Amino acid sequence: MSEWVALATKFTPGWPWPESSWGLEPRFGADGWCRGCGTPLHEQTGSLVIQGSKFPTSDVWMPNWSYDVVCVSAAVAEVVADKFRVEMRDVCKPKSGPTGFKQLMPEVSQKRWYDEAVLKSIIPVKHPLDDSVGSRCPTCSTWRWLPVSEGDAHIFSAALDDVESDVAASPEWFGSGWSSMRNSLFRRELAEALVASNAKHWSIVDVELV
Ligand SMILES: [Zn+2]
Repeated sequence: MSEWVALATKFTPGWPWPESSWGLEPRFGADGWCRGCGTPLHEQTGSLVIQGSKFPTSDVWMPNWSYDVVCVSAAVAEVVADKFRVEMRDVCKPKSGPTGFKQLMPEVSQKRWYDEAVLKSIIPVKHPLDDSVGSRCPTCSTWRWLPVSEGDAHIFSAALDDVESDVAASPEWFGSGWSSMRNSLFRRELAEALVASNAKHWSIVDVELV
């Protein structure tokens, strides 16, 4: 069993605010995300803000639009702070501010996770209607691969050797249109604790590390 696993969720509750930036502006600042493709241009500097209407209530959740974001309730955040090594930030509401919920902040790997030749061979199978495997944004020059799940292609274990956090994010970007995300891995013990806190929606996905 590998030390790192991915998480899958069946349900994404909650909507980032404001909708005009898909919630990116509070997290990255006015100039911290590309208006051409929605990709962040630097690491997160502010808090995730979620609309007050239909604000998520479960202990572990991923919001809509931001499919590389995992948030936890105050109770789970306390366990995470106590037992695991993960930076966390407040999750806020537009008017009332911090909610007690926390966003788990992954550490972005310095080294690439994926073998480009492998991505080039599996993406056409996953996205048969697309005629390319990804695209470069004309505004910010970021290359994005069409999305693959963490379990779809092997990940270089050497890329995780330097990661100190219990949550890691790929340096590679994935997405198309206005959706940009990094892939994420969790140390198994943390992943198991998160799934145990919301087993109705979350499950562990094993990944192949080489
Ligand atoms: Zn861009």
